[in-house]
Amino acid sequence: MQIGAHISKSGTMDSWVDNAVERGCSAFQVFTRSPRSWFAKDLDLDEAKAYKEKLDASDIDRMATCAHMPYLPNLSTPEDEGYEKSIKSMIEEVKRCDKLGIPYLVTHLGSHKGSGEENGIKRLTSALNEVAKTKADVIILLENTAGQKNSVGSDFKQFAEIFAQCKPAKKFGVCLDTCHAFVAGYDLRTKAAVKKTMKEFDETVGLKNLKILHLNDSKGELNSNLDRHNHIGLGEIGNEGLGEIVKIMNKNKIPIVLETPIDDTRDDFENIRKAKSLA
Ligand SMILES: [Zn+2]
Ligand SMILES: [Zn+2]
Repeated sequence: MQIGAHISKSGTMDSWVDNAVERGCSAFQVFTRSPRSWFAKDLDLDEAKAYKEKLDASDIDRMATCAHMPYLPNLSTPEDEGYEKSIKSMIEEVKRCDKLGIPYLVTHLGSHKGSGEENGIKRLTSALNEVAKTKADVIILLENTAGQKNSVGSDFKQFAEIFAQCKPAKKFGVCLDTCHAFVAGYDLRTKAAVKKTMKEFDETVGLKNLKILHLNDSKGELNSNLDRHNHIGLGEIGNEGLGEIVKIMNKNKIPIVLETPIDDTRDDFENIRKAKSLA
């Protein structure tokens, strides 16, 4: 079982490993730089080296680690300036991951801002194909969306079509977020519902393309398109469905990363413990 959480990027990079180990993680996700800014300081190579050494010395498999793109880039935007800036920032991020030995970079699919799904998908896939030319040992993971206004990729069929247009194929994979899938209309509340949803996922996107699973419960109801994560088992999805997903991921050796809230109800320590207990 490879399971962990999104780890805070505060402190030096090697402290990501400490924070992950402390929380009982055997997988984790990070932001390699501030997610709310266009600007990123150059990667400190000594710090990166210390991070890699600490990760190597830990029990965490490098292939169970990933980075998440910052929030500002929008790869589907119809606006040229923002589009170019987004591509540039993602290329930088791919290079950072490469230097850190992070094998996967998770990206959102962006907003077409009312220019239409077809336009959005065209922009998105040509941006991704441009980024994929970067010489780096990093696989880009497309994350399924919650189906908010002006988004694409919440429907598995459309998500699969987008994925199929990403070239070269060996540079791409997918990340499935349980909260996003659920609020996009894919029931995950019972064992039977999970089996049906995962079958549909396998037949469209393909389970073999799934490299990271985001395990989140949901504050929003089924089909609400509301992207609000909840603590494991305390949301609309619940223990039965999430437990079944954990089992399927373990069977297929797919690393699980939690992006659950940290509040008075629970922190990462407890959500990770809870998720492990569901297996
Ligand atoms: Zn996610
Ligand atoms: Zn989300």
